[in-house]
Amino acid sequence: MSTIVMSGCATGIGAATRKALEAAGHKIIGIDIRDAEVIADLSTAQGRKQAIADVLLQCSEGMDGAVLCAGLGVQVKPAGKVTSVNYFGAVELLDAFLPELQKGHRPAAVVISSVASAHLAWDRNPLAAAFEAGDEAQAAAIVEGAGDQGGNLAYAGSKNALTVAVRKRVETWGKAGVRLNTVAPGATDTPLLQAGLKDPLYGESIARFVPPLGRRAEPSEIAAVIAFLMSPAASYVHGAQFVIDGGIDALMRPTAF
Ligand code: NAD
Repeated sequence: MSTIVMSGCATGIGAATRKALEAAGHKIIGIDIRDAEVIADLSTAQGRKQAIADVLLQCSEGMDGAVLCAGLGVQVKPAGKVTSVNYFGAVELLDAFLPELQKGHRPAAVVISSVASAHLAWDRNPLAAAFEAGDEAQAAAIVEGAGDQGGNLAYAGSKNALTVAVRKRVETWGKAGVRLNTVAPGATDTPLLQAGLKDPLYGESIARFVPPLGRRAEPSEIAAVIAFLMSPAASYVHGAQFVIDGGIDALMRPTAF
């Protein structure tokens, strides 16, 4: 058995991933705003600091993996909360956990990004400089000043930066012996998606997002790929983004990959 720290394990993809990893015999230390071993709000610097401290206390016997699922959707207001949870709530935890993971057994980490990470190019991501500078207030100010498109910018911009942050860590983490990958789900039937579909501004465009497979994913279908990436079967997979979207990315961008 190994110990895996997870954020966002209370519902949706995180809950399904917790179930899959527990079925594979792992012990989970979950971080969430509810129903978790560590209750913390990852939208604030103080909450993230407390989450990291509590996790390290609970991992006295070591940490072998991390799966960072916590995230907020386009419809959440203020939009700055989305940039805080989706980017800082993942990257700060990753960096804090690396020294512990490095001492773990066959260590690996998976970060949940999104197909939306490719909706915006890094060199045209208006949030790139603020994220790279670790300037949470500036990232929030940019999205909150973007009017109706603030939610879209917060979501796609934070997921684009999250995938870039993982890719930029590939050498450090590789040398440390810790595999690090992202998954990029498309529309998956979770509370986050249901809330987006009900949103008067974004609901219609989310509903139009129908993939070639003709249906949305079940959370367990995303969890199965995460469980594979966390397993020894993925021992040479590092720095990769696994797109799990029923074909929507290939449909929209057949020549870009
Ligand atoms: P969800 O709402 O079911 O799960 C999100 C989890 O994050 C919940 O357990 C929630 O309590 C937790 N969380 C939210 N705010 C938090 C905070 N401030 N502090 C701590 N925990 C917090 O949604 P989901 O769809 O399962 O989302 C999981 C991940 O998958 C997210 O990162 C999301 O962006 C990503 N994703 C989802 C979809 C989709 O269509 N559902 C598509 C692409 C990517």
